[in-house]
Amino acid sequence: MILAVSSLKPPYPRYRGRFAPSPTGPLHAGSLASALGSWLDARSNQGSWLVRIEDLDVPRCIAGMDQRILAQLQACGLFWDGEVIWQSHQSKAYQSALETLYSDRQIYPCRCSRQQITSALSSQGKLRARNQEQVYPGTCRNGHVWQVQLPNNPSGSAWRLALKPEQQICFTDAEFGPQEQNLNGDVGDFVLRRADDVVAYQLAVVVDDTQQGITHIVRGADLLSNTARQIYLQRVLGYPTPHYRHLPLVLDPHGEKLSKQTQAIEINTASDAAVLQALQAAALHLGLSGLDGGQGQTIAAWLLEATHAWAARTKECSPTQN
Ligand code: GLU
Repeated sequence: MILAVSSLKPPYPRYRGRFAPSPTGPLHAGSLASALGSWLDARSNQGSWLVRIEDLDVPRCIAGMDQRILAQLQACGLFWDGEVIWQSHQSKAYQSALETLYSDRQIYPCRCSRQQITSALSSQGKLRARNQEQVYPGTCRNGHVWQVQLPNNPSGSAWRLALKPEQQICFTDAEFGPQEQNLNGDVGDFVLRRADDVVAYQLAVVVDDTQQGITHIVRGADLLSNTARQIYLQRVLGYPTPHYRHLPLVLDPHGEKLSKQTQAIEINTASDAAVLQALQAAALHLGLSGLDGGQGQTIAAWLLEATHAWAARTKECSPTQN
């Protein structure tokens, strides 16, 4: 089927989207749906689509998995623009953001163990259920002797962001609508660099999205609850805030998010027919029905049809102006 480009949305001024997989396992039905959703959103806005490998958490990463994921994306016809970046090559940028925050006295070192945090919260009657995030009680907030420069990881400390009071963050998610979170009450001073010196996801993602000029973040709904923290960090660092769209998660029969832990099956890219089947399933999950995934269809033609279907779907349901 030939579809005119004119039926797409008008080009968004310098739309830049991205897919940011962690190389902890191959693409499965869930991560393919995120990759496809962000690719379709970028292409339907005639924008660019970048790929970033989030490989900071070394113990969870699997050697060679970055290349496997990139090969899977290519097999699915999800080609990216520009150079792929690896977070493990970005340490200077993270260090510089930490130094800026330190010179503004917005981060402080913390040596509390999990156990110490639990007992402090429990003595204040603020301990939450085990499956809930604990709000850091602020034990180390005032103990730091400030120096001119960010000290070199003093005796294995984590670094926490000192939240300003009353941080009620509001934003509109293009899929889930208006959102708000009180960071002080729900999260507390969160960690930006762990005690083992690994830069935390919240800081890395904000620095990288800004450095890559990302204007639209389209990713799985499991990350929706992180977004207020990221918007707060963008504000304190003086970075722009992108548009956000969180995609419904693919769940297993027990209602759990598909992941390596739940033994999610790698997508089959052995033939074009298998790829089309995986893409068709991902598209259905994203609410795109009626696409022709039949025999004789090429992956490129299918993706073009899906791009138009995505443009129509997001025109109907988007609460923000893309
Ligand atoms: N690396 C994260 C993941 O694989 C995605 C982070 C993001 O898109 O902000 O779940």
